[in-house]
Amino acid sequence: MAWSATARYGLDPAPGGLGLVQDLLNTVDAGAPRLPDLLAGVTQAQAWIDEATAQWTAVTGQQVPRVALDADGLAELRAFRDGLQEATAKAQDAASGAGVLAPVLHSATAALRLGDDGLVRLEPRGTGWRRLASLALAATFEGQQADTRRRLKTCRNLRCRVAFYDRSRNNSGVWHDVRSCGNAANLRAYRARRRAQGG
Ligand SMILES: [Zn+2]
Repeated sequence: MAWSATARYGLDPAPGGLGLVQDLLNTVDAGAPRLPDLLAGVTQAQAWIDEATAQWTAVTGQQVPRVALDADGLAELRAFRDGLQEATAKAQDAASGAGVLAPVLHSATAALRLGDDGLVRLEPRGTGWRRLASLALAATFEGQQADTRRRLKTCRNLRCRVAFYDRSRNNSGVWHDVRSCGNAANLRAYRARRRAQGG
């Protein structure tokens, strides 16, 4: 089993529940050659959700009641994905902590629960697409607490936008793949400089 949307781009998943956030971002049509949008229709989206929630359970040990999607839920889920994409891209620009983040675009319900073991846990709630949003936002919140969220990035190549988890020591990565996206960008910049110099 794997995070299927991330795996199709040949990338390693983000750790723990953050893998779901990355996988949702990677349902977009992206990469070169471009792969299809996994949220293009209810049937494809339901198939992705079934895989993603099973993977969530495998990774976190938390059961997820079946998330059933309808056409309205799909539209909401796509809008949620777009908001998450925008927030992830802006968080990178504001990596120094000085920038301005997008306003809160979406909210979801979750419960705080004191367990038998004395630990407090965040428990996602809701049905349909809202459950998925709750899972993703809970994982994002936990990623903030663990300081792993800032390593989840979207490729700086706007024609690519693949979501990757930056494991570099100083968190300096900007390309999902330096060879395919970084070198192409460097070449374009080099040619632009040559043109500017009249070369
Ligand atoms: Zn890329």
